[in-house]
Amino acid sequence: MANQPRKSILCPNCGKLISVDEPRCPYCAIPRPGSSLKNNPLMRLFRDPQRFVRGIIVANVALFVVSLVLKPTFANLSMNPLTFLAPDSSSLLVLGATGTIPIDRFGRWWSLLSANYLHGGVLHIFFNMMALRQLAPFVTREFGTYRMFVIYTVGGVVGFWISYIAGVRFTIGASAAVCSLIGAALYYGKSRGDSYGQAIYRQVGGWALALFVFGLLVPGINNWGHGGGILAGILLGFSMGYQDKYRERLVHKSAAVICLIVTAAVLAWAVTSGAYLLFTSGR
Ligand SMILES: [Zn+2]
Repeated sequence: MANQPRKSILCPNCGKLISVDEPRCPYCAIPRPGSSLKNNPLMRLFRDPQRFVRGIIVANVALFVVSLVLKPTFANLSMNPLTFLAPDSSSLLVLGATGTIPIDRFGRWWSLLSANYLHGGVLHIFFNMMALRQLAPFVTREFGTYRMFVIYTVGGVVGFWISYIAGVRFTIGASAAVCSLIGAALYYGKSRGDSYGQAIYRQVGGWALALFVFGLLVPGINNWGHGGGILAGILLGFSMGYQDKYRERLVHKSAAVICLIVTAAVLAWAVTSGAYLLFTSGR
């Protein structure tokens, strides 16, 4: 039984139940809906939203552990909770921290993506992952998992790109990407405009405001990255739409798969090249 070919599938574009060997979807008319390019295992990774968000958190924790292990120092065992388990800055640089130093001096443009998965201490990663766990299920419900990951990935890159333009020298953290989710949620609330939308807008707007005030009070917070992330999230939410407006289409799914492949490639490159750089220069 297990080896029998599947007879029917959900159309990768419109989600209706169709026969796998249909030359065109009878509902939305995309050509060859059953082709393996449109039904690949990478797309299936997005089908369980909870597992997918957990995967993002696991990637962040794994990179954090690597950044600590790559160059262990006694400094990160300090009793100051802000610097407790803080990775060495040369370790963060080789793993893909971003800003004008890594980009202008070392040409590391790919760090605009890798920096989203790096953190400067236990509190830093804890707060960012808490915020992600709060926001991602909501954005996933209203936009779908594919669009959520595009908003998260592209918004994080745009946020760090804007902070680079603004001259921020060295920066890391998931908060630009998390802010992009905030931006998408703000757009969603404003666009709906009914009482539910207004409640969402007020709640998420409160978080954005708290983040902004926090950023003014605490030195070293990348406000450009946060603001850029929020702006990118609004624009991405607006241009891709949410479930009540348009269902997720093949173009969103393909964009999400591309984001996933590029992220995996950049993180793999960051870890292998970073380990090599530290190993060869450390003696
Ligand atoms: Zn279809």
